[in-house]
Amino acid sequence: MRTGLRISSLVPSGLAVESVSDSSDSVIVTVRSADVAAKCPLCGSASRRIHSRYTREVADLPCSGKEVRLLVITRRFACEVSHCRRQIFAERFGAALPVRARRTARLECIVHHLGLALGGRPAANFAKRLMLPVSNDTLLRVVRRRTCPPTEPLIVAGIDDWAFRKNHRYGTVVCDLERRRIVALLPDRETATVRAWLSAHPEIRVVSRDRGGGYGEAAAKALPDALQVADRWHLMENSSAAFLGAVRRSMRVIRTAIGATTINPELLTCAERLQYEGYLRRQEINAAIMTLVRDRVPLKEIARRTGHSRNLVRQVSRGQSTDIFRIRQSTLDAHLPFLDAQWTAGCRNGAELWRRLQVQGFQGSLRVVSEWRTRRQRAEKATDQQLQKIPSARTIARLMTTARDHLSKADTVTIAAIEARVPTLVDARTLIERFQAMVRQKIVAELEPWIATASASLIASFASGIIKDKAAVCAAITEPWSNGQTEGQITKLKLVKRQMYGRAKIDLLQARLIGAA
Ligand SMILES: [Zn+2]
Repeated sequence: MRTGLRISSLVPSGLAVESVSDSSDSVIVTVRSADVAAKCPLCGSASRRIHSRYTREVADLPCSGKEVRLLVITRRFACEVSHCRRQIFAERFGAALPVRARRTARLECIVHHLGLALGGRPAANFAKRLMLPVSNDTLLRVVRRRTCPPTEPLIVAGIDDWAFRKNHRYGTVVCDLERRRIVALLPDRETATVRAWLSAHPEIRVVSRDRGGGYGEAAAKALPDALQVADRWHLMENSSAAFLGAVRRSMRVIRTAIGATTINPELLTCAERLQYEGYLRRQEINAAIMTLVRDRVPLKEIARRTGHSRNLVRQVSRGQSTDIFRIRQSTLDAHLPFLDAQWTAGCRNGAELWRRLQVQGFQGSLRVVSEWRTRRQRAEKATDQQLQKIPSARTIARLMTTARDHLSKADTVTIAAIEARVPTLVDARTLIERFQAMVRQKIVAELEPWIATASASLIASFASGIIKDKAAVCAAITEPWSNGQTEGQITKLKLVKRQMYGRAKIDLLQARLIGAA
């Protein structure tokens, strides 16, 4: 059977196959140049005068699960131009087989992309499965070597920081916002570092950066003519944070407002109610046992039917105990609802409470009632001040900025109470909403009046920050640029960094990120 496939079509073009030897796991192809002459690399004239031959071994793409090695018979030529300083030169094989390369260009390309996608060690493991003979270090070397810095001029730069190690070390990432790619990683986020980098790139016309840190300052010094844009995402976040700050500062007033609204004097305190419920449950059991006793059911049978111990049933049946579940029984239990009603009606005097209880048939001592009074008072204070469930400032800030119809009924009551009693907070919220709408809808004309109002509000410090950075904030409202995509780039950066298991040297990270773009 004839097939159209010839072995020479499997080797890089420009090479002719001399011989093939095949073993169980590799194929060795001996090749030579198909050309008769070669050009002198110095003077460029062709020569046919062969001086000598040697063999180069070059790895190529695997074939049918076998490693492929090319033995390249390389000829040395003598330059025929008499005045050429290069008397002898080795022939070259073009882009397919670069000078001194140990791999063909097509293999190197795969190695490069493996390295970019997976990083050193994982890529080396994968390469082994692909029958590509490359080590971990080779992969990383190829990635580093083949990274070419972007050639297009950087006009719109986005600058942000990223965590090398969270809370320990931060770097700076510079993105080309037009081409949506990372341009550089800087080892820290110092103003001087960023400034130096920006100074080396005078072609930058727009710098988008966050509002904290020294990026604004660095850009102003390095590129005084460039337009600075405050990042919209950070603006939004800062404004939300400003509102949270306002809520925090108003917490004292908020507590009073909520406390006055939702305290329900009808309710027993939690512990008291549990006590009372226990009492009712015990009464129920006793009554059930007593009914059976009156029906002359034998004790043994009562114990079987109720599931209580025979000892307990006996005690109850003899009327020895109405309260056998507790070691320290309280004579007050039966009277708790009455006591609480008296308390709520305004009677706070222990002796008076005791007298009223005695009328109800209470036989305990005054001391028991006084102690209850003290507990009750303490509980009520705690309810007012601490135990009353006041949501955190963060929760309140969130609830206040959530659409009303998404709130639960209880939350709506809470928020309504705050809104009624803390009008300055409502003003602050309106201001934040106006600010965010202004940024979203790009209405720069509203900035001045907004600043004027906000400066006299709970978010005055946020407003003064905006005044200080006004040009960049204006640009954030009018310009299309934003660092939103930078966040995405940082996500990618973190992913690559994690793959490198702490071996992430900044140049390699940069090589992988820029090379992959
Ligand atoms: Zn020459």
